[in-house]
Amino acid sequence: MITLFGERDNRILLNAILLQSSIRCKHQCQGCYTRAQEAKNPDRQSDYFILLGFIRNLVQGKGIAANQICISLDTLIDQELEQQRQFFLELLCIFKKYQRSEWLPELALTAHDLSLLGGKGPLNFPSGNHLRRYINHISLSSYQTTTDSPRAILEDLGYSATLNYNQTLGLFKAGDLQEPLGSADFVYLNLHKPPLGEEYPIITSSSRRLNVLPVNQIVSIQSQLESLKKVKSNYEDAWTEGKIIQDHCLTDSLASGCGANISKVTVWPDGAVSGCPYALEPQTGPANSADEIVENIRKSLVRNGGHYSFEDCKISETLVNLTRVKLGLES
Ligand code: SF4
Repeated sequence: MITLFGERDNRILLNAILLQSSIRCKHQCQGCYTRAQEAKNPDRQSDYFILLGFIRNLVQGKGIAANQICISLDTLIDQELEQQRQFFLELLCIFKKYQRSEWLPELALTAHDLSLLGGKGPLNFPSGNHLRRYINHISLSSYQTTTDSPRAILEDLGYSATLNYNQTLGLFKAGDLQEPLGSADFVYLNLHKPPLGEEYPIITSSSRRLNVLPVNQIVSIQSQLESLKKVKSNYEDAWTEGKIIQDHCLTDSLASGCGANISKVTVWPDGAVSGCPYALEPQTGPANSADEIVENIRKSLVRNGGHYSFEDCKISETLVNLTRVKLGLES
């Protein structure tokens, strides 16, 4: 895939746009940045007609174009199932109508679990099969043990998309990736992150001794990096073949920076925009129309004076500190 960023004919070009999950996501996962957003912005509402209008602009290349749009299925969890289905029916109409558009982006979905993609999910409506054909990539929150392999279930439902499992580092045993690797195209090793701008707890020998950190934070970055190391050595072949992917935030932090607000943005359900998906506060206000979402994206981009989220990102700093601790420069 070509990395798009810049402008052409007054059109914003981006590599990826994430339609972030609902502010009021029904999954109450501990430490989730989406949940942290909800606590900070309790009155925000999503409007799926506006989001659909934005997607229509995108596939037409109207003011904006991107290589990929990734829709979190939890985005619509605020809505009744019938409305969710309506959203996907209209999404199908848009993709069908503009299927020959030179700006048609790759369509990716993220879902908490298979039930959102199957029988009880919002994609189950007459002709939902047609939409499934436009879906290039599916990411599930984690590997799920079922009698049938998740891939077989998805194939039965008419998906031909590549399948990925996100596995949070430190929350699985490093020897437990055999099954996920057998049934998916990719396993993405997700580093658990605090919301953007918030500190990672660094566990020094004194904090450990004084027991000042809650247990769930101790599962945090050090053990996650240990887990990463074990996976690398246990699954060398899969690693080399690119079947196991380390969190892009980690890769970006170890390199020169991240594309948030440069080549990728996150659109929240109320049309507000932040570069980094882990941002606690969006960088713009909500949007009342599809064009306003495009305008929000324009405002958020570094090349238009927007904010570079990576400056607030604590990952690289944390990695440096961790190395210092490991080298015995701090106690
Ligand atoms: S700023 Fe970039 S590297 Fe840091 S958490 Fe956000 S997306 Fe990841």
